[in-house]
Amino acid sequence: MSSASPGKAANGRFQVVCPILRESMVKKICILPGDGIGPEITAQAVRVLEALGLGLEMETALLGGAAVDATGDPYPEATRQLASQADAVLLGAVGGPKWDTLPREQRPERGLLGIRKHLNLFANLRPAVLYPELANASTLKPEIVSGLDILIVRELTGDIYFGQPRGIENRNGERFGFNTMHYTESEIRRIGRVAFEAARRRNRKVCSVDKMNVLETTQLWRDVMNELAPEYPDVTLSHMLVDNAAMQLVRAPRQFDVMVTGNMFGDILSDEASMLTGSIGMLPSASLDENGKGLYEPSHGSAPDIAGQDVANPLATILSAAMMLRYTFGMEDAACRVENAVKKVLAKGLRTGDIFEPGMTRVGTEQMGDAVLAVLG
Ligand code: NAD
Repeated sequence: MSSASPGKAANGRFQVVCPILRESMVKKICILPGDGIGPEITAQAVRVLEALGLGLEMETALLGGAAVDATGDPYPEATRQLASQADAVLLGAVGGPKWDTLPREQRPERGLLGIRKHLNLFANLRPAVLYPELANASTLKPEIVSGLDILIVRELTGDIYFGQPRGIENRNGERFGFNTMHYTESEIRRIGRVAFEAARRRNRKVCSVDKMNVLETTQLWRDVMNELAPEYPDVTLSHMLVDNAAMQLVRAPRQFDVMVTGNMFGDILSDEASMLTGSIGMLPSASLDENGKGLYEPSHGSAPDIAGQDVANPLATILSAAMMLRYTFGMEDAACRVENAVKKVLAKGLRTGDIFEPGMTRVGTEQMGDAVLAVLG
């Protein structure tokens, strides 16, 4: 990976060392609130970005169900143009039961897959870090999860999610559903390099996850990872079948440093890893292209069950904004200001419902945003 090299900073936190985009020019962010809790949580992240006083230019557009309602298209042309022009995109989440019966091409998720593909965001980085204050929020015992610091590197633009042919047809008098899993060796090599580079700046361990005992595509995945390994003699490569990986993540998660896997397995494992940390509402993510441009979004979905109630946790989105400052804009200090503010708020005992425990102070979405703003150094 030449221009966006993920790593761990001297202070131990994960970062991507990338060229600061257009140093002297206005930095433009495309804001895509999306559906469900998306607008509520994105609003808090925007407030934080504004409060930093960095002169960031922000413009909002439609994606997902909101875009379907307004234009009939989950990824409309106006959004496509804005996303192309922007240096970075901040996304809430898309989807909800309202759109689940639409033809597949019009469903909100198509907007999400569309923007990922359009921006060529092939690498999804999801840190799963356990905040000490939330050790009890995990469903696992503190001794299993304390000190957890995993990075899941998920390939994002290939695999069965994009493979053709796909569909549901009538065959031999019954409905027949089918999808196609495929990867080219160059796609595997590209994401493998991201993982190896990331591991070099962490604990120098990559665990590649596949299902090579059943799926030929993932036999190729394993072969290419093995071919890459000699280029990184300082990194230890191991392999794990996805079913075992799912088990090991809850049995002994601290054995992992960097996990790298395909789109579908990564989708599932990164959600599982997120629960180790106590709440899906705490986990940011970055999806990067080869030049440091990125789409930043919380790891969770649009949570229609709690939408519009001012109870959603905005911290994953706020932390996603911090990742944006670091990875795309190279603003390490500003990113740290945001992350430290989140830590201070947790240390003060403020909790949204998803991470609430007795003795803490329950706050809503906007109150949590207020609290972060109040302690932003
Ligand atoms: P979800 O992540 O939206 O919700 C799962 C559970 O976590 C729910 O109980 C929800 O209330 C809770 N939750 C999620 N985010 C939270 C937050 N910030 N604060 C507090 N609680 C939170 O997953 P789901 O229910 O499987 O999916 C709901 C919709 O979201 C579906 O339409 C799905 O397609 C969509 N989705 C979108 C994305 C995305 O936009 N990236 C990702 C996953 C799912």
